[in-house]
Amino acid sequence: MEKILLKNTGNPKAADIEEYEKAGGYAGLKKALAREPKDIIEEVKKSGLRGRGGAGFPTAMKWNFAVADPKFPKYLICNADEGEPGTFKDRPILEKDPHLLIEGMAISGYALGAEHGYIYLRGEYPEARNILDKAIQEAYEKKYLGADILGKGVTFTLSVHQGAGAYICGEETALIESIEGKKGQPRNKPPFPVNSGAWAMPTIVNNVETLSNLPFIIEAGGEAYASIGSKDCPGPKLFCVSGCVNKPGVYELPMGTSLKEIIFDHAGGMRNGAKLKAVIPGGISTPVLPAGSIDCAMDFVAMPKAGSMLGSGAVIVMDESVCMVKVTYRALKFFEHESCGKCVPCREGTEWLRKILERIERGKGRKGDVELLSEVAGIMSGRTFCPLGDGAAGVVIAMLKHFRNEFEQHIKSKKCTFS
Ligand code: SF4
Repeated sequence: MEKILLKNTGNPKAADIEEYEKAGGYAGLKKALAREPKDIIEEVKKSGLRGRGGAGFPTAMKWNFAVADPKFPKYLICNADEGEPGTFKDRPILEKDPHLLIEGMAISGYALGAEHGYIYLRGEYPEARNILDKAIQEAYEKKYLGADILGKGVTFTLSVHQGAGAYICGEETALIESIEGKKGQPRNKPPFPVNSGAWAMPTIVNNVETLSNLPFIIEAGGEAYASIGSKDCPGPKLFCVSGCVNKPGVYELPMGTSLKEIIFDHAGGMRNGAKLKAVIPGGISTPVLPAGSIDCAMDFVAMPKAGSMLGSGAVIVMDESVCMVKVTYRALKFFEHESCGKCVPCREGTEWLRKILERIERGKGRKGDVELLSEVAGIMSGRTFCPLGDGAAGVVIAMLKHFRNEFEQHIKSKKCTFS
């Protein structure tokens, strides 16, 4: 497959605007500005593009909600807060090809009638901050950003807002609170950000990868984009693979590539010829799959049928030496730490789950602890204010579904007999 998202990342100078232009960069923006904003949205609709942040919502439909709202100003926010353990798919674009994102945002801003955009950048990406600041400055100098883009009378300004390291700010309403200078905690929905987002104005929040598809869609056309990947979820997808594989890294493949192919054909198979035990397919908050369940298409429709979720496409591979109790404990330690504390089921539930898992992992598990884990996770499910709490509970539920014997064995043996 011809690379669309990572096509320039092999060039060490790709972050310079001249290199980007030499590779055909900003042609999509020029083409977009020669068309009506509604035609751009129609092209995105034809492409079938769905949000790459994890939810998979159709991009054109989301845009239309904001466009239909008469309130002004409208804002475009790029969610570059990839803080989920295992997720690093947007990093190559941010650090190696920032103009691809900037061009995508300028096209989107024009289509939406948004005159200002923000890149909400993960606090732990200091290098990306410097690279983005420089690239934005270059784009202003070449009139790809600013008050009169390429002399077409279109305004779109752009700035970077760097987070302070809170995972919850990857949730769009917490992210908006943070941009407004408030504590990063999720808001009630509805109203949704498309109608009442930043400063109560219509706001579109799109992921880095989503926005970086725009230059290709405008240049090659929505139909060309829709011909890539699976029928229900077209286009390319970035998969970041980590764990017990020979070649961990970020891979651009057609959406719908099977999990098995990603691990064994692209990521080089299992390290040291070890036996595959389990895979977390879409970042730590997506349900684990045992080795026997990896012959499934990685897209937003097929993965729920296989018992998990595509999430961010962050594939974490574990071999037989990995203790699933330890993995679950570490995951819950993370969720407990990152719980924003706004709602009781998550604030208390993640602490309870972490404490029970900690004692099991340390050989101090009690009779009934597995049932207690199951009960607490069950109570949390569907009762938390935002997906963080649900995700934390889901991790425990899936681990118990597939690896319950390991938890029971830990309690019985008072140590790990699996790793
Ligand atoms: Fe905060 Fe957790 Fe409740 Fe989300 S689920 S609002 S992170 S306490």
